[in-house]
Amino acid sequence: TEAALLAGEKLAVAGRLSATIAHEIHNPLDSVANLLYLLMLEENADKRTEYLQLAQQELGRTMQISRTLLSLYREPRAPVSIDLQQLIESVLLLLDRRIQQLSIRVDLQVLGPAQIEGFPAELRQVFTNILVNAMEAAGDGGTIVIALREAPSEELFSAGVLIEVADSGLGFPPASLEHLFQPFFTTKGDQGTGLGLWVSMGIVQKHGGTIRVQNGGSTSLHGAQVSIYLPLRALPYIPSGLIAANA
Ligand code: ADP
Ligand code: MG
Repeated sequence: TEAALLAGEKLAVAGRLSATIAHEIHNPLDSVANLLYLLMLEENADKRTEYLQLAQQELGRTMQISRTLLSLYREPRAPVSIDLQQLIESVLLLLDRRIQQLSIRVDLQVLGPAQIEGFPAELRQVFTNILVNAMEAAGDGGTIVIALREAPSEELFSAGVLIEVADSGLGFPPASLEHLFQPFFTTKGDQGTGLGLWVSMGIVQKHGGTIRVQNGGSTSLHGAQVSIYLPLRALPYIPSGLIAANA
């Protein structure tokens, strides 16, 4: 049946995903094991410090990967009322030190009510991921514009909030637009995990929302623009395969 096919497809995706994750985590752990072995044999103090620093770096990378993944699988509780303006301001506060260091100008435009129901910790993760990307793209002296407004009613749900984040960077690499939401896709080499957009999409979909990317969107900035639509009320999350199976 269609439901069985869907379930099979999901298992295949899950299998591929865990293989990818295992691979991503295995490589740095393997390096740590080797470095610890070398450390046991090494007597030179400088060399020992160097091995320890390298091991710390590799562990940092696996921690970054697991932290991002854990935020996606956090235990679901009941949705609560959220003021998206406050939520985004609290994320900006956390990022403030880096924003100051890079002299990035952030313009938060609240163009309408921005109250929804949802999962605040997860949405905070979404806006952290999107804003960190925007900061990395905008770079020194760059600009980020965040606009909040009521969503146009032609969307899936009758009412919601649209959040647009635009930056003054170079925009999404055009050749890779279709890969951006794939786990571990990154153009940042060792500096990236490639999990930010993928995790964000999972969380937004769980809220019944959508996330879109484009270059040179509605603002005067010519860089990347991410548009997130969130319905006023998050429906209880039921994997679509289950709905089909129970019907
Ligand atoms: P990461 O940031 O670790 O690379 P993400 O999933 O957050 O992983 O982003 C995936 C890729 O999407 C990035 O490597 C980059 O190529 C592209 N990207 C994301 N946000 C932006 C942006 N604001 N401007 C340009 N490119 C972006
Ligand atoms: Mg990122």
